[in-house]
Amino acid sequence: MTRPAIAALLWLVLAGMGVAGLFLSTVNRVRETFDTDARILHRVLSQRMEQQEAVLNALDALEQQGVGVVALGTYLNTLLRPYPQVVAVEQCFAQSCQVLGTPAEQPPVLATPLSSQPALHWPEEDGPLYALSQNRVRIWVDARRLTGALDSGAAPLTYTLFQPKTATIVVAHTPEAGAVSRTLRVDKVLGTTLQPLPIRISRSVPWSAWPWVEATLWTLLTAGLGALVFRLLESRRNVQRALLDERARAAGVVHAASEAIVALDDGHRVTLANPAARAALAHPMPPGTDLRTVATFQATLSQAPFDAASFWNSDQPVALPEGLTLRRGHEGVQVEGSLAPLRGAGGELRGRVLILREVGPLQRRMLERLEDGERRVREHEEMLAHVSRLSTLGEMGAGLAHELNQPLTAIISYGQAAARLLEDPEPDLARVRHAVNASVTQAGRAAQIIVRLRQWVRRAPSQTRPTDLVQAVQNVLTLCHADLNRLGVQVVAAYADAPLVEADPVHLEQIILNLLRNALDAVQETPHPIIEVSIVPDAAGWTLSVRDNGPGIAPEVRPRLFTPFTTSKSGGLGLGLSLSQTLAQGMGGDLSGANAGSGGAVFTLSLPRQALEAASD
Ligand code: ADP
Repeated sequence: MTRPAIAALLWLVLAGMGVAGLFLSTVNRVRETFDTDARILHRVLSQRMEQQEAVLNALDALEQQGVGVVALGTYLNTLLRPYPQVVAVEQCFAQSCQVLGTPAEQPPVLATPLSSQPALHWPEEDGPLYALSQNRVRIWVDARRLTGALDSGAAPLTYTLFQPKTATIVVAHTPEAGAVSRTLRVDKVLGTTLQPLPIRISRSVPWSAWPWVEATLWTLLTAGLGALVFRLLESRRNVQRALLDERARAAGVVHAASEAIVALDDGHRVTLANPAARAALAHPMPPGTDLRTVATFQATLSQAPFDAASFWNSDQPVALPEGLTLRRGHEGVQVEGSLAPLRGAGGELRGRVLILREVGPLQRRMLERLEDGERRVREHEEMLAHVSRLSTLGEMGAGLAHELNQPLTAIISYGQAAARLLEDPEPDLARVRHAVNASVTQAGRAAQIIVRLRQWVRRAPSQTRPTDLVQAVQNVLTLCHADLNRLGVQVVAAYADAPLVEADPVHLEQIILNLLRNALDAVQETPHPIIEVSIVPDAAGWTLSVRDNGPGIAPEVRPRLFTPFTTSKSGGLGLGLSLSQTLAQGMGGDLSGANAGSGGAVFTLSLPRQALEAASD
């Protein structure tokens, strides 16, 4: 059964009981009033009958004393005024009876009584007239007048008088009545032994006598109150349920926490401990356990002694000193944590909560994560290096063609020259030898380029050694001698003495060759081409500059000068400068390029000073 149904049922019972009570009390009240009224009616009628008998006695006594008929008749008019039911008085003799005074009604003719005992006579069985006689006196009573005075203003009672012997109705009094809900009835006998007249008294209870308004009000009142109480109970129930939900959620959070959490009352007794707390303290910690006996902290020798009393009794949040050890059986575990007060709504101290965390596993986990992270970074770096090498390999393929082109061109020219010389009838063997030797040198150079390239791809470090920078420049100038002459380029060289640098000779020559070739390309259209090569010391080592008087670096090329495949030349690959910069950086130096203030371009190669030289500084 649902709660509203139960509430409705309770309301029905309550309302029903109230209504029943109201009706019952009305029934009782009506019955009580009826009984009282019936008793009064009975009493009044009985008194009247007693009065009739008193009248009879008085008249008998007067008659006995020999009061004359005339005197009796006169006296009767006064005597009978209060008793209208006594309608006639007779004085009887042996043969007949004589009516005295002025009767209200002519009595029927009745046999002479003549008995000293009072007697009752009822001449007509269903008539209202009856007679009472004693000795020679007889009085006549009209039963209808017996109740006459009660009619006006009396309670609306219905009553019926019966003839004592035959039980026929002599008087029936029925007041006007509307719709009747029920009838109350009582049967009695009127009060003298001489006149035992049965009487039935009844009263009709009209519908309007019942407490309809009160019953309706009560029903409405209980309904309203019931609804109010139901709503109050419902809202209280909802609040309680929300509270229980909240408590369950909070308990769930505490239960799931990885930190040890122990709630205490104000006497440090456990009220709640989560699984992490039971594990950390290695104790089942049933409610009521004094936590101070379970959680024992110890300071290390290097620390100030742990003041347990002030820790446990603090009414402010207090953190455990760093590096503190918690005793767990025979071992000690390093912990961190805090103790905080729990306060009631009024701010009063209700208990405390201890939160503990083992530091060891946390540190170990963090270390593991750190190592893991480092390993991943290493792997990532290796992967990046590999990818970068692979991508550069593509550039290098083209670069390689560019670089090998020069020695191969030289080998072809030397080979052709040797062949032409040998075609002479008298070949100049010395020149042929020179050409062949030069060819071999260039072939060796090409082979070295390939070896270096392979090393570079494997990311073999540059094999630096103390290298004479001037010598490297001169080797390259020798190589480009023919082209320089062909274009009529004036080479201006300015060298410092013995500039030894820490460099890989092959890489170094490659770089210088690139710079020289680019300068040669730049001055193709210049009327008086000049290439200046200078070597000057700088803070970290030596700087080699190659400057030409060509058109300078084109604006669209400048921002991407060292990016692979940047070129303004129709047959160019745009790899020379990027390769040269990579090689320079590989030797610990750098390569940069700019337009010279006086026109043309200037490229600057900086290299670290030779190690020994650097050490002696
Ligand atoms: P490539 O010579 O194959 O074009 P580089 O990397 O050697 O490749 O040169 C890239 C570009 O830099 C050239 O195409 C040119 O536009 C510019 N450059 C290089 N050297 C000079 C210079 N001395 N004067 C003017 N521009 C130059």
